[in-house]
Amino acid sequence: MINLPEELKSRISIEDVVARYWEEPNRAHRVKCFAHNGKDRNMLVKNGFVYCFVCEARFDIIGAVQHLFGLSFIQACEKLNIDFDCGLPVGKKLTRSEIEELKRAEAQRIAARQAEENRKRIENKIFINVCDELHLTQAIVSALEPSKPIDIDTLDEELIDAYFAQLKRLEWLEWLADTLLGYDTDCEWTYTIGADPHVIYERLISGDLTI
Ligand SMILES: [Zn+2]
Repeated sequence: MINLPEELKSRISIEDVVARYWEEPNRAHRVKCFAHNGKDRNMLVKNGFVYCFVCEARFDIIGAVQHLFGLSFIQACEKLNIDFDCGLPVGKKLTRSEIEELKRAEAQRIAARQAEENRKRIENKIFINVCDELHLTQAIVSALEPSKPIDIDTLDEELIDAYFAQLKRLEWLEWLADTLLGYDTDCEWTYTIGADPHVIYERLISGDLTI
């Protein structure tokens, strides 16, 4: 069971609370007492508490906030929780199943973050692969390119077929790289696959689409 007041006390120092809502403690850890509103620095701020040597007021962080703002215990916890960004479920007593639910949600957040990181790694790998293939194909295309001036009669038909196949592949890879980078290029693939990089990555990851 989470002990909310203890959790707040472990996260927030009395020095920070006093400095934020009252005044910065001096080097001797002293401030003017906000309980009896004295002129001298009679209040010691240390070890999780304030203590006044004159009026003997003694508060922890929650008590100090209650006193400074005239709040109830729970209201003071809520204020600290919000002001110091603790994000704790203050203000209600949690049932066992609610605590389980919180733990489950936390585990889900962690799992989702890991899945997201994994996905980014895979997407990176795919993009690098596309770029590598693009460069390779550019090299193949220039190697297969018929020398000029082109003499139609001496052209090897198989080589020409291979050349056009690679040219087509080069267009595909260029479009793929552009689209994954977020550039909008209109072409036949835009109509069949779409231009949403997320969808394309999804299909590449699942193997539904091959580079
Ligand atoms: Zn005092």
